[in-house]
Amino acid sequence: RLEIRNLVRAFEGRRVVDDVSLTIMPGQVTCLLGPSGCGKSTTLRMIAGVEMQDSGEIWADGELVCNTIFRVPPERRGIGLMFQDFALFPHLSVARNVAFGLSGSAEEKRARVEELLHRVDMSRHIDSFPHQLSGGEQQRVALARALAPRPRIMLMDEPFSGLDNRLRDGIRDHTLTLLKEEDTAVLLVTHEPEEAMRMGDEIALMRNGKIVQQGAPYNVYTRPVDRATVSFFSDAN
Ligand code: ATP
Ligand code: MG
Repeated sequence: RLEIRNLVRAFEGRRVVDDVSLTIMPGQVTCLLGPSGCGKSTTLRMIAGVEMQDSGEIWADGELVCNTIFRVPPERRGIGLMFQDFALFPHLSVARNVAFGLSGSAEEKRARVEELLHRVDMSRHIDSFPHQLSGGEQQRVALARALAPRPRIMLMDEPFSGLDNRLRDGIRDHTLTLLKEEDTAVLLVTHEPEEAMRMGDEIALMRNGKIVQQGAPYNVYTRPVDRATVSFFSDAN
């Protein structure tokens, strides 16, 4: 389980992340939902460890990940990343892309790669290169790559926004199934209410750097805290 406590980050004196606290449970998808520029990606980057907070703490499974004086480096946080522009390595085969973050013997790595490619239904493309795949196929390989090292926590920043509608629904469902099977704690960033309603066990609504409302999707949708939330939901439809 991932715990974020009172995270603050300012740029040029403006707080773009302003006292954000969140708890994300294993096997659950929490959607961080809000308009462009509200601070979603900055929050995710601090959790990933590629951006430093000004104050606040992050804990994973009861262990301190970072505060303002201590930080576990990004590669040792047990965090998987899937970002829209987080492309596959073009010069590596599908198999080697998925094996990239794995340790262990060659046989162990091969077994894990084959298992994951089977689960994303990409076994027949194991020796293909990224340019030989469609956008949706590349996304499935990216998902397999992110899950291969068994991350406790998965951070996803608009992972489906590059896909056309028809592909997107299938990949969303596939992704959810896999994440639940692996019991991963997921924080998924989106600016689309429809995506948060579909994917989230929990929605955290963000505006101007703050979490303004949090709860089950149905409750957030039917009991918005204020007018700005009402118009955010309706403008997007
Ligand atoms: P979007 O939905 O458009 O991706 P977002 O919610 O992910 O938006 P962020 O990328 O977190 O928004 O940015 C929040 C605010 O912080 C923006 O106003 C952005 O311009 C500002 N910002 C982010 N990174 C920096 C930086 N390195 N230097 C200065 N300002 C920054
Ligand atoms: Mg963003």
